Amino acid sequence: MLSLQSLSSFSKSLGFDLLSWIPYTQRDPQHLELWLNEARHACLDYMAEHPRHDPSILMEHARSMILLTTSYNHPSSHAYSHLRIARYAHHLDYHEVLRERLETLATFIAAETGAQLAWRCATDSAPLLERTFAQHAGLGWIGKNSLLIHPSLGSFTLIAELLLDIDPITHTTPTPTPNRCGSCSKCLHACPTQALASPYVLDARRCISTWTIESSGPIPRWIRPLIGDMIFGCDICQEVCPWNSKSHLSSDPKLLPSQHPTLSLSPLDILTLTSRQFNQIFAQSPVLRAGRHGLARNAAVVLGNSKNTSCIDTLLQRCSLEHSPLVRGHIAWALSQFDASPSIIHTLQQLMHNDPSSFVQLEAQLALEHLGHLAFSFDPMYP
Ligand code: SF4
Ligand code: SF4
Repeated sequence: MLSLQSLSSFSKSLGFDLLSWIPYTQRDPQHLELWLNEARHACLDYMAEHPRHDPSILMEHARSMILLTTSYNHPSSHAYSHLRIARYAHHLDYHEVLRERLETLATFIAAETGAQLAWRCATDSAPLLERTFAQHAGLGWIGKNSLLIHPSLGSFTLIAELLLDIDPITHTTPTPTPNRCGSCSKCLHACPTQALASPYVLDARRCISTWTIESSGPIPRWIRPLIGDMIFGCDICQEVCPWNSKSHLSSDPKLLPSQHPTLSLSPLDILTLTSRQFNQIFAQSPVLRAGRHGLARNAAVVLGNSKNTSCIDTLLQRCSLEHSPLVRGHIAWALSQFDASPSIIHTLQQLMHNDPSSFVQLEAQLALEHLGHLAFSFDPMYP
């Protein structure tokens, strides 16, 4: 048996900030089931595919779970890049970094206890209500923005779990962290899309992070202007949270923004990347998750929102060079955000009449309507 203190200090030497544990337990899935029944998970189908409240589904004979958090907080998302991307994506993909550390921790526990240990590690990679378990283990509370918040670490933290078939720690009872949101509701008011319609309930159908990271389809038209310059993810409901304004900054070399690969890229560069270039540049970045088409789609929306006329020529060229209908359709939308010019109108008319994709045709038609130029070109016989 180990003391919580010795395990905790070893985990700090690996780079984790906090460690706690809970004996094997199930959590009440009622909150999640209600959320799923209301279809608030949007395209996050994996949330509905596996039960998340019972660790023994992940690992038979699970007796306990060690929970760890580590901060990736750094001062600003703008200081390091021309791209406004979620803070967690400013450094290398954390999954591999944390997995290695968890494996070292498991080896340490096996050596110290002399046990034939069975274990499984997870970092936002397995069906587990990890925030709920972390709250139960005393690592923070789930705030009105639905994220785990710790009084000194804030919410820019990564959560990792180690499931074990033993109880490795001399008996201590973890104390769940009390909720400290109080009367604050800054995150609810700051969310540009009202995705936090009520406290503690995130409606992923309205969330910019869902659409710019997880979705591989068209972004709803009403959300596009609200995306502003956020090309990958959104941190607004964390940036406004008072618990993040004075929280600990990470000094973990593997989670520092200097490691991220996007320092010199602009949204215009993103729009013109080939798949090969995209895969090379983002090979070790969380941004890879969006895929080349998804990130180029987001770039088109950001360029439209920028109203920067210097990108119009590239947008026009991409209407014929871009292979993905998803991206071409969003470029059509982006063009509609500028003042109508003969070249914009001509290109949109070409797309509306000649593009092989019905999605692109519709986007071009709506773009022309938006610019008040549909009457010149609209053929009522055209599907
Ligand atoms: S990530 Fe952005 S869009 Fe999503 S809930 Fe938070 S503030 Fe709203
Ligand atoms: S902004 Fe306020 S209400 Fe929202 S999570 Fe932070 S403390 Fe809670």
